[in-house]
Amino acid sequence: MNPKSLGVVFALLLAAAQASRAQELSSAEKKLTQSVEARLGEEMAALEKVVNIDSGTFNTEGVREVGRFFEKELQALGFKARWIPMPEAMHRAGHLVAERISSKPSGKRVLLIGHLDTVFEGQGHRFQNDGAVIRGAGVMDMKGGDVVLLFALKALDSAGLLKGATVRVFLTGDEENPGLPTSESRRDVVAAARESDVALSFEPALATSAAALLLGRRGLSTWSLDVTAPGGHSAFVLRPRSGTGAIYEASRILDGFRAAFSSGNVTVNPGLFLGGTDVAYDPAKSAGTSAGKYNVVSRSATVKGDLRALEEKEREAAKGRMREIVAASLPKAAAKLEFDDLVPPFPVTEGNRALMQVVNAAGRALGQATLTERDPVASGFGDANFVCSLVSAVDGLGVAGDGLHSPDEIADPKSVGPMTARAAVAIARLLSTPN
Ligand SMILES: [Zn+2]
Repeated sequence: MNPKSLGVVFALLLAAAQASRAQELSSAEKKLTQSVEARLGEEMAALEKVVNIDSGTFNTEGVREVGRFFEKELQALGFKARWIPMPEAMHRAGHLVAERISSKPSGKRVLLIGHLDTVFEGQGHRFQNDGAVIRGAGVMDMKGGDVVLLFALKALDSAGLLKGATVRVFLTGDEENPGLPTSESRRDVVAAARESDVALSFEPALATSAAALLLGRRGLSTWSLDVTAPGGHSAFVLRPRSGTGAIYEASRILDGFRAAFSSGNVTVNPGLFLGGTDVAYDPAKSAGTSAGKYNVVSRSATVKGDLRALEEKEREAAKGRMREIVAASLPKAAAKLEFDDLVPPFPVTEGNRALMQVVNAAGRALGQATLTERDPVASGFGDANFVCSLVSAVDGLGVAGDGLHSPDEIADPKSVGPMTARAAVAIARLLSTPN
């Protein structure tokens, strides 16, 4: 850990300790929560508006339109907002960044993260709130969280607490399917993190464990296994003359992966297998063809998969183990394994824990349950993965809900106000915590 982040951890621990002693809201914080409550109707209307704009990742115009809504709203709060387009060939809408920068910030420089796209492509469910649940595509993941973020900032602005503060809002347009290479599609959020001290990400809370935050998420690498063998008459398979063939060799390797990664934090998943005399794979379609005959020993096999790990050293150790398994080739077969690191791991750190305590103290002061840590291996990656090496970060500050990534996504309307108030109080405390 570098000295800068050590300092940040220490300051956060101090803030958390002070906050837990003062388990009550200050009068300024009480005003914040009143202001959140006063705007609840407006907040629901905003959620309805953005949920009813279809914005699957590949619906670039829809993503841009959701972005325009937040752009206008944030500009009204004194943020300088701009749209960052992505190159045409990437087929992604781009991102919205909005900044309020103080030359002399009085406390932490805060980065707030959300995303404008939804997994669900096409026309999603229209917004529907029956008081018990809110239905609508992306209502939980994560337009609910985006709106929580926005209305926390509105409350802070009304209370005058954004004066002298440095706050950046980064809403990506392709979180559910990041544009490649990620070094390009995530360059600007990384740059925003470089100018920040802490990051709060508003991905959904879970209905089953709303009083919990994510302090880490696994990173993602993809891998490609290519096996070649001489082929020959099937009468001689597994005999010296024809050897094992490519399909047996690929199967041996996959069984080795299965045995090596059946437990622990690392998972290795083969998602596509092609084998035969000839195979062809089209990366653009994530599809391929294979041709072969029952009486010919297979000459080629191609497998595409992923590798997920919570820490960089775990990821590298897993790659080493996979390479060892690949290298122990069966007779006459040869295999090549290649990796592509797409998303960095977001490991659980003491800095993230200290940041959670600031959020926890805010929630406790509001009468909410004590926060626990969510299992970091039980979900996919998020945009916080790309910034966590630069700032302390926590995720899952959005609305509670269920049915993640399905068209039947629902959110708990009763979580909207409390999550917004908690975010507003936590951000206020961070903005007044000196570095
Ligand atoms: Zn999400």
